[in-house]
Amino acid sequence: MFECRICGETQYYQYYCEDCSIIRRILLTYGREEVKEILERVCLRNKKQMNYKINDIKKEKDQAEQAEPNSDETYKKKNAIKTQ
Ligand SMILES: [Zn+2]
Repeated sequence: MFECRICGETQYYQYYCEDCSIIRRILLTYGREEVKEILERVCLRNKKQMNYKINDIKKEKDQAEQAEPNSDETYKKKNAIKTQ
């Protein structure tokens, strides 16, 4: 028994699990530096990129609340008007 050398999943016959074998082939095809650069550019976010993503999520949440008539916010607003 082996542990996959990349993700640590238990393997019986190989040093790499099925998914990591694909990752390793990509790594061998494009080279470590290029793959590392692509992963850093695509998967990692700097502060500015994080703020863009946070704003996108906030916008999606606001739009979802407006589209859904029976959401908690709509219920609270209705009750707030009734009590005034
Ligand atoms: Zn693996």
